[in-house]
Amino acid sequence: MKPSLVEILAPRLAALDLDHRLKLAREVIPGHIVFTTSFGIEDQFVTHSIFTQGLEIDVVTIDTGRLFEETISLWEETEARYARRIHAVYPQALPLAEFVAEHGVNSFYRAVENRKACCHVRKVEPLSRLLAGASAWVTGLRADQSQAREGVNLIELDNDRKLVKLNPLADYTREAIVAATEAFSVPVNELHAKGFLSIGCAPCTRALEPGESERAGRWWWEEDEKKECGLHVGPDGRLTRGPAPEDPR
Ligand code: SF4
Repeated sequence: MKPSLVEILAPRLAALDLDHRLKLAREVIPGHIVFTTSFGIEDQFVTHSIFTQGLEIDVVTIDTGRLFEETISLWEETEARYARRIHAVYPQALPLAEFVAEHGVNSFYRAVENRKACCHVRKVEPLSRLLAGASAWVTGLRADQSQAREGVNLIELDNDRKLVKLNPLADYTREAIVAATEAFSVPVNELHAKGFLSIGCAPCTRALEPGESERAGRWWWEEDEKKECGLHVGPDGRLTRGPAPEDPR
C-alpha cells in the first residue's frame, strides 16, 4: 500500500524545528491551511513563525464573546507587530441568543451539560465553519500540557474533518517556547505573568496555584475526567479522552 502523506511527513517533520516544520508543511500540503490561535504563548510562537516567514497559512481566532481584555489587547498588538490581520469567526447570533435566554449567561458553572453546550455554540460550531474546505489545520498543542494531550502527534489525520492536523509544537516543552518567544521578542499575553498558563474564556479560566498542572485553571470547578477541553465533546455530546479532533488548543 502507498504510504500516506502523514506517514511520509511524520519522520521528516520530527527532525526539524518549528519554522522548518511549517515551511515544509506549506510546501507539501496543497490547498487552504488554517492555524487557529487563542493567543496563548504556544500560539504566539506559531503565529510569529508563520508571519515572519510569510507563509500562506491563514491565522484565525474564535472570538467567543467571553475573552479576557488582555487577550483582545494582545490580538491588536500582534496585528500591529506583524502588520497582518488575524481574522475571527464568531458564534452564530441566533443559537447563542437562544442558549443564553434559556440557560442564563453563566450557566456553565451549574452543570457540565451547560458548559458543553456553551462551548459548542461559542467554539465548536464556529471552528467547524472556519475549517470548512481546509486541507490542513495547524494547532499550538503540546503533548506535555496535560495527560489528555499525551497522544498529540506532530502530524495526524483528522478523520472526522477529513483534513491533516499539524501540531508543530507537539514535542516542545513550555520552557523551550518561553525561551524562544523571549529571544524573538514575540508579544505574549500579560496573563501568563499573573499565573495563567493556559488561557481560554475569562469566566472559565483562573490563575494556577503553586504545583498545579498547566491546565488546572481551565473549568476548575469540574472533576478532572470531565473537564479536558469542552471542544472534546463530539456531536453526540460524548466526552472523549486524548486530543479531540475539534480542539484547537
Ligand atoms: Fe462558554 Fe466557558 Fe466554553 Fe467559553 S470556555 S465557550 S465561556 S463554557
